[in-house]
Amino acid sequence: MKQEIEKAEKLNTMGELAASIAHEVRNPLTVVKGFLQLMQKDDKDHHFSYIPLVLSELGRAEVIINDYLNFAKPEFKKLEHFSLSQILSEVCMLLNALAVKQGVELKWGGTEEAFLFTDRNQLKQALVNVIKNAIEATPGGGTVTVALSLSGDRAVVSITDTGNGMTPEQLSRIGTLFYTTKEKGTGLGTTVSVKIIESMQGKISFKSETGKGTEVTLRLPLHNKVNINY
Ligand code: ADP
Ligand code: MG
Repeated sequence: MKQEIEKAEKLNTMGELAASIAHEVRNPLTVVKGFLQLMQKDDKDHHFSYIPLVLSELGRAEVIINDYLNFAKPEFKKLEHFSLSQILSEVCMLLNALAVKQGVELKWGGTEEAFLFTDRNQLKQALVNVIKNAIEATPGGGTVTVALSLSGDRAVVSITDTGNGMTPEQLSRIGTLFYTTKEKGTGLGTTVSVKIIESMQGKISFKSETGKGTEVTLRLPLHNKVNINY
């Protein structure tokens, strides 16, 4: 049975989200600091044994930060008129390395063009998180397809994978802060994507069937009229 849900409000603000994430990052950093203090106090020869733990905790902090702000630059709030197909190409090119590594074919063959007026780095972040999940859910030999179409005053981006899919229970939890089924997951990617898309007056919905795959649909307001005033 196909299950579909529309992600509704119920999510906290970007500020609250940032606070929760800062809290999550603090844990591995506290561990690293503790180890370094131990190493400093006790300058005997067994220092090296701490290094793998220190690196693993720093890696954890890095993953959390990446899921939250891969593309966040100082000009985080810069609004621009830009080509959505261009952004999709850039994101797919970036994630192709990950797809190849997993033996997954990442297909992007958009012929439609759509222009948006929003923060392009935030949009990239939202797309990366969703497409990365699709690749991660797909076993070798599978496909992830990214497509762009137009519907009224909306650009519609669909990300379809032939991966493991989700049960209705899993589907109902997607987008919940820190919900993950992965051993090294953060449970941040989807929450951040939903928050970003909604802040752009867009909508994100998930359709999934276990054993068949998942389709994520993003609807974003078009801004095709080029206005000379900005
Ligand atoms: P993470 O990727 O760190 O686990 P996310 O918030 O990005 O955190 O995703 C949360 C969970 O949602 C994943 O652990 C996975 O179980 C599920 N999920 C997300 N996208 C897909 C997908 N395309 N197919 C199957 N499951 C998915
Ligand atoms: Mg993820």
